[in-house]
Amino acid sequence: MSSLDDLYRRVIMDHYQKPRNRGQLDESEGLTVQLNNPTCGDSIALSLKVEHGRVVDAKFTGEGCSISMSSASMMTEAVKGKTEEEALQLAHIFSDLMQGKEIDESVDLGDIEALQGVAKFPARIKCATLAWKALEQGINQIRH
Ligand code: ZN
Repeated sequence: MSSLDDLYRRVIMDHYQKPRNRGQLDESEGLTVQLNNPTCGDSIALSLKVEHGRVVDAKFTGEGCSISMSSASMMTEAVKGKTEEEALQLAHIFSDLMQGKEIDESVDLGDIEALQGVAKFPARIKCATLAWKALEQGINQIRH
């Protein structure tokens, strides 16, 4: 195992053990999307608060493997403060990352980069993309 893999593994475990933005927003504050990944048993409830086209808060609860939970933690951290457009764009970039596609180097993925190795394990891709699918659904619901 390379030292980079080791670093990535540590970043993933850090988010898994100390999830950022864990919790649920009050119904009056935002909308909640619930999604499951039956192949692994992961479940997530993502709450989004969007004001004037901007994600002002994102929280999640759920249960699942380290990949699904760390991805949710990283995602909520990454989208807070972003516009709906920017958040959706990031979801597309993440999808590309999971398909092993080349990512524009100017994009700063931060901790999300630690999940790029998941692309090599097709069975785990659904774990990593679960939170991002919830994000896309949530934003689409808010827009319609
Ligand atoms: Zn999983």
